[in-house]
Amino acid sequence: MTRTGGCLCGAVRYAIDGPDPAIDICHCSMCRRQGGHAQAAMTVAREHFRWTRSDGLAWYRSSDHGRRPFCRLCGSALGYEEDGDDHVYPNAGSLDDGGAGLSVRSHIHAASRGAYYTIADDAPQFPVLRPDAPES
Ligand SMILES: [Zn+2]
Ligand SMILES: [Zn+2]
Repeated sequence: MTRTGGCLCGAVRYAIDGPDPAIDICHCSMCRRQGGHAQAAMTVAREHFRWTRSDGLAWYRSSDHGRRPFCRLCGSALGYEEDGDDHVYPNAGSLDDGGAGLSVRSHIHAASRGAYYTIADDAPQFPVLRPDAPES
């Protein structure tokens, strides 16, 4: 199936083909600062992801190995990309269908979560990355 999503104003749109993506909630300080809270990162093979409207698409280089797409018109945080990675990590919060049929696989960077909340579901928590995460 094809899932679609985009930013708050519609100037950035994307489509995902292929299998249902896993969702890992990232609690790292960069995700929290950029998006206002933990971000719901979908793991999508790069070949299954495409931008379908990019009028507002801009990038913020958040580290020497990663960059973050956002909409320069409405400010929506749209995910994360790692240099040289064959996967991309768009935010599930931007899906048109609300993520119907998807579920949270795990929490990552749980050791960095904000002090103002607890992680209250049963999904496994990893202090930093998942053990099966690609090397960066
Ligand atoms: Zn926008
Ligand atoms: Zn993060």
